[in-house]
Amino acid sequence: MSEVFTYDGGAVAPGETANIRYTVSETYLGDPVRVPVTIINGALEGPTVFLSAAAHGDELNGIEIVREVAHEWDHEELAGTLVCLPVLNVPAFIAQERYLPIYDRDLNRSFPGNDSGTSAKRIADRLFRNFIEPCDFGLDFHTSTRGRTNMLHVRGDTDDDDVGRIAHAFGSNVIISSEGPSGTLRREASEAGTPTITIELGEAHRFQRALIDQALEGVLSVMAEFEMRPNEPVKWPGWRVVINGSEEKTWLRADAGGLVEMHHDRGSLVEAGDRVCTITNPFKTDTTVVEAPFTGLLVGVLENPLVYPGNPLCHLVALDEVTLRAIRGDQTTKRS
Ligand SMILES: [Zn+2]
Repeated sequence: MSEVFTYDGGAVAPGETANIRYTVSETYLGDPVRVPVTIINGALEGPTVFLSAAAHGDELNGIEIVREVAHEWDHEELAGTLVCLPVLNVPAFIAQERYLPIYDRDLNRSFPGNDSGTSAKRIADRLFRNFIEPCDFGLDFHTSTRGRTNMLHVRGDTDDDDVGRIAHAFGSNVIISSEGPSGTLRREASEAGTPTITIELGEAHRFQRALIDQALEGVLSVMAEFEMRPNEPVKWPGWRVVINGSEEKTWLRADAGGLVEMHHDRGSLVEAGDRVCTITNPFKTDTTVVEAPFTGLLVGVLENPLVYPGNPLCHLVALDEVTLRAIRGDQTTKRS
């Protein structure tokens, strides 16, 4: 038998689902700022997991992932509890901005929070104490910053065995290993004993169906790894690269201001010397070609085609020979 899930203000028994609007702050009018939370407590014993999205208010793909996970369960077939937080940062979501609108604070640098701190820290504290820390592990969904897009990849500290297990189970091709900046949900939760990964996919302000479906497969794969669903397999993505340390990944930056034409999509393999993109002036009389300094994978690329010198163009990640052969084999198979 599964256990009762309790939070400050309520409880959800095994075999029950609760849709809650949980107060984390107040507006200028004194009205409650409430975060939607769905808790699905399975009939069978198993781990308690949180899934969260929109810690940055304009990153929408994760919202749809978390909502879909929250509403397709038969309690009799769920071993454990799902704590679904589709919109963590409600004030930023309403404003359709990345940060909390007041003083531009980053909720995802405010964890684990503080109940007598800034408004961001108080919101973080209420979320963390009630819905993050009580969980056995967690998945936090993000997209690229506005104006750029990412291929689906996982971020987490694979040196931590518990985090590494979740990161591998998600079944993405690319894992970027780091503990993450201080104050992020994934780092603070992991340090507090709730190992957590971040999943990055696509761009802000969009629902991107193909990426959402790919991430849903990843969620089910993690649930399979922890035996939350009877008799389901863990996904193997065909090839996988775990990136450690900054020497293997680089942001290519513009050396000229201008208008950018990208020649490859996110997720493409580019060979050393390939043209990645071209920057032109308004008259198209001056052209700067940006070449790949090494063979690698375009994990992130520009969407907004305007740059100043110094602006990032793409996130290129180097690959070892074994991975390169696997990707080339994969692409040949897909073509035929
Ligand atoms: Zn984000």
